[in-house]
Amino acid sequence: MSDAGRGILTVVSGFAGSGKGTVMKKLIEGHDNYALSVSVTSRKPRPGEEEGISYFFKTREEFEEMIRRDALLEYAEYVGNYYGTPKDFVFSKMDEGKDVILEIELQGAMQIKKKYPDTLLIFLTPPSADELYKRLKGRGTETDDVIEKRMKRASEEALCIKDYDYLIINDNIDDCTRRVHEAIQTAHHTVGHEMELIKRLKTELIDRV
Ligand code: 5GP
Repeated sequence: MSDAGRGILTVVSGFAGSGKGTVMKKLIEGHDNYALSVSVTSRKPRPGEEEGISYFFKTREEFEEMIRRDALLEYAEYVGNYYGTPKDFVFSKMDEGKDVILEIELQGAMQIKKKYPDTLLIFLTPPSADELYKRLKGRGTETDDVIEKRMKRASEEALCIKDYDYLIINDNIDDCTRRVHEAIQTAHHTVGHEMELIKRLKTELIDRV
């Protein structure tokens, strides 16, 4: 473990169209204490996606083998494909003192919170449903039918926001990135993340009496 202590594990989720990808990119580029986990998926690569950067692409059989080996921190099936977080990368980076970020959907987020209650959960949202619709439409990459499906899914996901620690509005990329950074850095000082310091203070105080 580094002198800075163990890093914070943060989950970032958000509606499709919340701009979470852009915010994560800014966060990583602007600070060197973060490591973004690269997930494993059984879905086929999209044009432009690279192995080991976008995802580690596996067959369903390979993915199921990883489940059997207990190599995943969490996994979920989303629109017919498996997605999961490799354990090794996350723990080794946290031990180096890096704050590790998982950009994952809700079911995975809930699994992580249950297994590792000290995890920080952040949900990103555009300021309104109208704005979400405008962003999805403005991308020009999806049909009206897909946009409607994503809006419907967003309305279901909205029911789970209450289980997150922070809800951050993405109305401006820089402001949103700063707020995410502040939330993670503040988490370093919660009692649950300061166990080493508490132990040291206790020993020092006992030695003095
Ligand atoms: P896409 O296919 O568009 O890349 O991703 C679909 C969804 O899967 C997104 O909401 C994304 O955040 C989520 N996702 C990506 N990686 C993981 C993962 O490792 N675990 C879980 N549970 N969800 C993931």
